[in-house]
Amino acid sequence: MDLLDFIDTFPESLLAVDLDGRILRVSSVCAAMLDIKAGGLAGYSLAELSVDTAQHLDACLKLWAGGASYTPARLRLRKGTGELVDFVCEGARYRPDRAHSVLLLKLRLKDATENMFKELTRQVASLEQEVVRRLRAEQKLLEADRRKDEFLAMLAHELRNPLAPIMNSLHLLRLSSDPSRALNNCRAIMERQVRQLARLVDDLLEVSRWTRGAAELQRQIVSLSGIVQDAVATSKPLIDAAGHDFELKIPPRELFVYGDSARLVQMLSNLLNNAAKYTPSGGKIVLSLDVEDGQVVAKIIDNGIGIAPSMLEQVFDLFVRTDNSPDQVSGGLGIGLTLVRQIVQAHGGRVTAASEGENRGSQFIVHLPLHQQVSLAISSVDPSRPSPSLMGLRILIVDDNRDAANSMAAMLGMLGNDVQAVYGGHEAITVMTAFEPEVVFLDIAMPGMSGYEVCRRIRSNTAACRPMIVALTGFGQQGDRLSSREKGFDEYLVKPVSMETLQSVLAAKRRNSLPAAG
Ligand code: ADP
Repeated sequence: MDLLDFIDTFPESLLAVDLDGRILRVSSVCAAMLDIKAGGLAGYSLAELSVDTAQHLDACLKLWAGGASYTPARLRLRKGTGELVDFVCEGARYRPDRAHSVLLLKLRLKDATENMFKELTRQVASLEQEVVRRLRAEQKLLEADRRKDEFLAMLAHELRNPLAPIMNSLHLLRLSSDPSRALNNCRAIMERQVRQLARLVDDLLEVSRWTRGAAELQRQIVSLSGIVQDAVATSKPLIDAAGHDFELKIPPRELFVYGDSARLVQMLSNLLNNAAKYTPSGGKIVLSLDVEDGQVVAKIIDNGIGIAPSMLEQVFDLFVRTDNSPDQVSGGLGIGLTLVRQIVQAHGGRVTAASEGENRGSQFIVHLPLHQQVSLAISSVDPSRPSPSLMGLRILIVDDNRDAANSMAAMLGMLGNDVQAVYGGHEAITVMTAFEPEVVFLDIAMPGMSGYEVCRRIRSNTAACRPMIVALTGFGQQGDRLSSREKGFDEYLVKPVSMETLQSVLAAKRRNSLPAAG
């Protein structure tokens, strides 16, 4: 009997290969070990069975061919199940006759304890990584929790601050023997403080919308000069009040971005407000626009209190304020820059802060993707020019809350618009034809006829005008926003609506209704 025939039934895990590694015979024990049918490997080569490199296999074959005693080497083989297993393979040259040489290989699983040890080491390492990851996460949570506590304390403080002068003014009006004399003064105080309160509440609502993922961009192609103009108009009172010198550097051609104009105005004016707040009186603030590598680059530069290098990244985190913020700077909750970053990132851009250190001024640099459009020559934007967006529009306000409707009507009327306020859906439909408004601010939740129904009727009356219809609601749910658009609304605003938001909605309306520049 030939030795090779003998291998088939030999009670050890044996593999016979020729000097090139072609498989000649496999013992049934070896076939079982590899999960392969006996005889199933005939015609294959070691290289097909192994996942080791050709060099390694070559070296093994040479090693085994070189000696008569069994020399061990490591092989990684693919079992019939596809599993990769490490084997120790002892091989030696055997010459059944002078003409032929056979390499006889004996396979055994690589030391099981070694494998186990390796697996254990791997598990310990991944456990260590997991512990470190969890410790870091815990530290972050503790830090966020600490910041939240600080924030709540600060919020209470910031909300109480404006309340005191409002209460005092009210007392004064009640006690004064001639209230009309005190009126102007008190009104100015109350106006300032209510604006401050509204800004705080707006910021809080907005940041909660972003963190809940409920914020949604109303994007269209918008001109940056309009955005800059609205942002400057919003922040100019604060800049002027601090006696800062303000400079606007914009290129002589019109730049466009695909974005949400209200959000972009809010973002820029937050940065301008910060520059005004964190610069001692009589400072210098510059807003510049440029184009670099197909991106619009807006820089807001001040020569104020500056930012320590370690804080440059952190200032964008929620509720973060730097230690060098002067105490007298109030109205800051550490959410403005978080909003700035959220808005910029939602537009596919990025924002960074730079400063040479404390008291060396700060720069906030915003990159936004430029929307390629025919460039238009523009003169320059005059920051002192009143925004045209708030003038000369026919506006209908529909709200069952009469105080809300009347105050909004009075405000928009004073700014030069022709405004009418009605307090229910049926009334709104009745005045539509005669008044032909260009913009309708429409409350959604009204008794009798909902804002949705009013909107449907306005849109289905093809003979009547096609005004811009803006939904006003108390909720900022994503679903409401989507369904309001499907139901024919052009814009969706969550109450309370800030002056800035109103301004940018009307600005968009004006821009859309102006004849195209060419
Ligand atoms: P806040 O409402 O406190 O102004 P922000 O998120 O807008 O919140 O800013 C976070 C912090 O970053 C501020 O409290 C201030 O410490 C710092 N900061 C922002 N802008 C400037 C700036 N232009 N110069 C110096 N520090 C700034």
